[in-house]
Amino acid sequence: MTVRISPVQLARRITLGLSLVGLIVLTILHQRMQGIPSIDALDPFGGLETLLKYIAGGEFIKKIEPGNIVLLGAIVALGFLLSRFYCGWFCAFGALQGVFGWLGKKIFRRRFEVPARLDAVLRWVKYPLLAAIVYFTWRTGELVIRPYDPLAAFGHLSAGFSEVWAEFAVGLVILVAVLLLSMLHERAFCKYLCPLGAVNAILGRVPFFRIKRDKPTCISCSKCDRVCPMNVEVSTAATVDSAECISCMECVTACPTKKETLKTTLGGKAVKLGVVAALGLAIYLGAAVVGQAAGMLRFTAKSLGEQAAAGALKVEDIKGSSTWTMVAEAFGIELERLYREAGVDASKVPPDSMIKDTGKLAGIEGFEADTVRFAVARILGVPYAGEGGESAAAPVPTASVPQANPASAAPAGGGTGTLSVPAGFALEGTMTVNEVAKALSAPASAVLAKLGLPADTPRDTPLRDLKDAYGFTMTDLKERIQK
Ligand code: SF4
Ligand code: SF4
Repeated sequence: MTVRISPVQLARRITLGLSLVGLIVLTILHQRMQGIPSIDALDPFGGLETLLKYIAGGEFIKKIEPGNIVLLGAIVALGFLLSRFYCGWFCAFGALQGVFGWLGKKIFRRRFEVPARLDAVLRWVKYPLLAAIVYFTWRTGELVIRPYDPLAAFGHLSAGFSEVWAEFAVGLVILVAVLLLSMLHERAFCKYLCPLGAVNAILGRVPFFRIKRDKPTCISCSKCDRVCPMNVEVSTAATVDSAECISCMECVTACPTKKETLKTTLGGKAVKLGVVAALGLAIYLGAAVVGQAAGMLRFTAKSLGEQAAAGALKVEDIKGSSTWTMVAEAFGIELERLYREAGVDASKVPPDSMIKDTGKLAGIEGFEADTVRFAVARILGVPYAGEGGESAAAPVPTASVPQANPASAAPAGGGTGTLSVPAGFALEGTMTVNEVAKALSAPASAVLAKLGLPADTPRDTPLRDLKDAYGFTMTDLKERIQK
């Protein structure tokens, strides 16, 4: 049997498919190539978080790009005009749930319903969740949702299971649970948990776009109810004004009467379905094109070398996908000195390996690109406050980049650099090396050197758990850190 699909639904499936495939391709390339932005830079919800941080502290979140704000702006415009159109037409995670929903229908050949009362309660969960994210982002200035974000976990799958598990264990568990649940109950995450869906649902309260049902021509077949992925009851409503409606128009295109029983309206006036779809596509794609033209939305970035040539290279431009050679060449630093300053054994980490693979190659637990940024900043003598820091590094003009001076090189195992320990700093056995480094705004390698521990000491293990293996007492360490 041939299933005919309306042009509007074909367009919707194409945009959703492109969003999902585009996201997968970009995240795979990000793991393998220099200059491809991470999923953090493409997540519109990151735009909301970074805006909050900017309002609270005058600074954007570092993993976030101006492009996130462009996408967020488009979604807000869509939210006001067409309610949750983004959810129904562009969201890659919605598309992924759709794929699993389709699989579930093929396997189980039926649709499972959540009991109405439970469903009604669960649909409210996304709002306090949104409020909590807004509150904690405001307080901390961090991407608080990141470790729990199933989309972020999905976007890092190509890095390998162990890496995703180490960084996104909770997000990965939520991802698997949501996708399995989607096989039984369509778009479960959109209905119950999505904070961006909550934002759109709130914006969609502005009654500009609505679907209206013409009672006299309705034959009460309930087909509209059956096709609705969000379980909105269309067949009895005069106007569909549910905050759950994702403007997918499935109900409209499925209605069998051919008498425009379900009409799409804008500002109370009936408007052709194709016009509504074209308006939604134009707003989102238009914002993407304008953002790209204005240089705010990017899918590739200048390499470190190109930034150096343009005289705009900064320490924070070093990414996990940068290689050791690229960093050394772009900043004009001797490769050997860079390894030493970062406390990394050069014999274990080839120069063309990416910074983010260093921990695995050198057996250094919790090694982060920030260690390399600190090392570069120390060598160059420029300020750098760390990934979560409040101040940005000063630009490093290539012409003035000092060359490494072997005579002043730090000892193997990482130099202490600018590590200064305030009097009264309390070193606790429950702290990890990375936590101490964060508390002191210093690289982990400098902390290890100060504590007299070898460079390959695990950096995410509480110090008290390392005592026996490394032969120290907490009293020793407390003395060493204050020396
Ligand atoms: S009510 Fe209609 S447009 Fe809204 S989500 Fe359900 S099927 Fe889609
Ligand atoms: S699909 Fe159309 S005719 Fe059938 S119940 Fe819904 S609005 Fe009425």
